[in-house]
Amino acid sequence: MKLTDAPRRILVIGNGIAGQTACDSLRAAGFDGDLTIVGDEPRAAYSRPALSKALLVDGGGSHELALPTHDAAEVLGVAAVGLDVESRRVSLDDGSDLPYDGLVIATGSRARRLGGDHSPELTLRTLDDALVLRERLAARPSVAVVGAGPLGMEIASAALSAGCPVTLVAAGRPMLSHLGPCLSDAFTAAAVARGLTVVVCSAAGIDDARGVVLRDGSRVEADLLVSAVGDIPNTEWLATSGLMTGGRLEADSRGRIRPVIVAAGDVAAVPTRTGVRRIPLWSSAIEQAKVAALALLTGDEAPELDLDPYFWTEQFGLNLKAAGHLPAAGEPDFLLGDSPHGPSVMRWTHDDGHGVAVAVNHRIPIPKLRRMASAGA
Ligand SMILES: Cc1cc2nc3c(=O)[nH]c(=O)nc-3n(C[C@H](O)[C@H](O)[C@H](O)COP(=O)(O)OP(=O)(O)OC[C@H]3O[C@@H](n4cnc5c(N)ncnc54)[C@H](O)[C@@H]3O)c2cc1C
Repeated sequence: MKLTDAPRRILVIGNGIAGQTACDSLRAAGFDGDLTIVGDEPRAAYSRPALSKALLVDGGGSHELALPTHDAAEVLGVAAVGLDVESRRVSLDDGSDLPYDGLVIATGSRARRLGGDHSPELTLRTLDDALVLRERLAARPSVAVVGAGPLGMEIASAALSAGCPVTLVAAGRPMLSHLGPCLSDAFTAAAVARGLTVVVCSAAGIDDARGVVLRDGSRVEADLLVSAVGDIPNTEWLATSGLMTGGRLEADSRGRIRPVIVAAGDVAAVPTRTGVRRIPLWSSAIEQAKVAALALLTGDEAPELDLDPYFWTEQFGLNLKAAGHLPAAGEPDFLLGDSPHGPSVMRWTHDDGHGVAVAVNHRIPIPKLRRMASAGA
C-alpha cells in the first residue's frame, strides 16, 4: 500500500460510529499524521442501536463503545458550520476553523419530526433523547408511537414493557418495507399478543402535545407522543460547499466525493444493487467508513464498497438477526424451526440470485448466517 502521497492532516467531522471507524481504519492502514475528530455532541461516541433496546426500559445493556486507540485529537461539543473546498478549511460554530489535507464527512442524520422542527412529540436519536424518553415511560403514561419501522416498533415494545398502554400509528403493515410480508406478520402478531394496539392509517400531523391527526380525519390521543418517521441527513453545513448533488451527498464506490474528501455512514448516499441511496444502518456505516478511510490514503488502490448487509432488531420478545438483502419477499425457501414466531432460521432467494438469511430467537453464529445468505441453504 503506497502512502507517500497520502494527506498529512486528516479531519473527521462527526463523532459517531462512522467517524470513529474511519479514525481506527486510518491508523490501522499506517496513517501516522495529524488526526482530528470533531463532534457536536459533548460526549464520547456511543452505540446508537442500544438506545432503543434494553437501555430504554431498565437501563440494561451497555451503550458504551470500546475506548478508541486511534489517538485522534478530539474537538467535542462543537459543530462544523461550513466547508471551503478551495482553501481546504472547515469552519466551526465557535468561530474557529480547521485546515485539512484529507477530510472525512461522517455527520450522520437526525430524527425527522412529524410536525416539523418545533413539534412537541419526542423522537429518539441521541443518548439525551433516550434518557428523557426512559424517564417519561417510567411514569407509565399512555403512549402513541407514530411510525412502524423497526425503530417505532422497538420504542412501542419498550413502552409496553415499561407498563404503558401503547397505540402504534402505522401507515401500512408494520416493517413491511423493511422485512417483507412474512416477517412483518410474525412481528405484528407478537406485538398484538403483548397488548399493542395498531391503528393502520397515515398520520397527517401533530395538533398539540396529546394528539396525532390521521389522514382519515380521526385523532389518536395519548399522554406521550413519540414519532419514528425517518431521518434527515446532516448536510446543512455543506450547503455552499459545492459537494451536494440534487440535495444529496453522493459518494462513489470508494466513498469519495472529491479525491481528498470522503463520506461515510448515514449522511452519505452510496452505490448499491438498487441504485445510489443512503443505507442508515450500523454495520453499513462501519463498512463504508473502512472503505472511505483507505480511499483517502490510497485512492483507486482501495477496494470498492461491497456491502455485506447485516441488520438486527429486538422487540416484543423476538430477537431477529438478518444477513443479506432485506426485505424478504414471499415465503422462505428454507425454514429451520416451526415458524418465524419461534426459534427459527430462514432463507429467501431473490430473483437476482442474492439471498437473505434470517434467525429469530436462534443463536446461530453470525458468520454462519452470512454464509447461508450468500451460498444458499
Ligand atoms: C435509536 C436507534 C436505534 C437504532 N438501531 C439500529 C439497529 O438495531 N440496527 C442497525 O443496523 N442500525 C440501527 N440504528 C441506525 C444506526 O445507529 C446508524 O445507522 C448509525 O449510528 C450511523 O452512524 P453514523 O456515524 O453515520 O451517524 P451518527 O451515529 O448519527 O453520528 C454522527 C455524529 O455526527 C454529529 N454531527 C452532526 N452534524 C454535525 C456537525 N455539523 N458538526 C459536528 N458533528 C456533527 C452527530 O451529532 C453525531 O454525533 C439505530 C438508530 C437509532 C437512532
